[in-house]
Amino acid sequence: MDKLIRKIEQLKSERQAVILAHNYEPPEIQDIADIVGDSLGLSIDASKLDNPVIVFCGVSFMAESAAILAPEKQVLLPRLNCGCGLADMADAAALRKMRAQHPDAVVVTYVNSSAAVKAESDICCTSGNAVNVVRSIPEGQDILFVPDRNLGAYVQQQTGRKMILWDGACPIHDVISAADVTTARVAYPGALVIVHPECKPEVVAMADSVCSTGGMFDFVAGSDSKEFIIATEEGMLYPLRKAHPDRIFHPVKEGGMICLDMKMISLADVCISLEKMENIITVNKPTADKARQALERMLAVPRN
Ligand code: SF4
Repeated sequence: MDKLIRKIEQLKSERQAVILAHNYEPPEIQDIADIVGDSLGLSIDASKLDNPVIVFCGVSFMAESAAILAPEKQVLLPRLNCGCGLADMADAAALRKMRAQHPDAVVVTYVNSSAAVKAESDICCTSGNAVNVVRSIPEGQDILFVPDRNLGAYVQQQTGRKMILWDGACPIHDVISAADVTTARVAYPGALVIVHPECKPEVVAMADSVCSTGGMFDFVAGSDSKEFIIATEEGMLYPLRKAHPDRIFHPVKEGGMICLDMKMISLADVCISLEKMENIITVNKPTADKARQALERMLAVPRN
């Protein structure tokens, strides 16, 4: 393992590469990454970094977004088949059809979507900025929210805006139930419950705080509580425990909270992709140009 890590470091230096990793990636990948974060933070980093090579340890839509935002850079996804069950629930043809049914609606698309779907959208959002993105749209304007109905429902509740919701959901977050939260609260009385907004509305309603993965760090840092129940993909426990070794974090339930796509990339994959400069993500220019507009509109929305 040490030898492999040294080789990655050497290749990274030779290629002037930077390694970005999502909070759900395995611990050994997070540990070699230069930046670990959520979709919003990593999108911003990808657009601002000077490095000519970005190794994206996440799933395909994230690497696509990085390639779209930084077209002059080479973006490597160490395993090409890292997909997203939520992103797969919307395709460009179906979105065009839906748009035709709601021609006046602004299409707000969660970044957990393909480049082709982003290209059919007016503005993107992440779980960290979806509320602000929707608030940036003039009152009275129809809004079509794609593809996560749970995040959409949360945004509706926060903004008071009625939206047309695409019928998609993350297969990991959507299986967390209100009963799971109740069981966890009984097991860990006194612990605060932090819920990702991709969870069902009845789970979100039981939360002490609803946060993107990036927002979870801020909430914990600003809280006096020592113990937390975390309702999101299990990988999130690692960076939270690393950042706050004095606090206790429990998964909302044992088992079933693992996104296999987020666990595919190994250190060997990172090493091989850097060595051979392979698995370079490309998005065709017409699609990339349209998707970039939607992403850049999102990045222009104030974070708070
Ligand atoms: Fe997609 Fe859900 Fe996996 Fe995130 S956790 S990558 S939304 S399937």
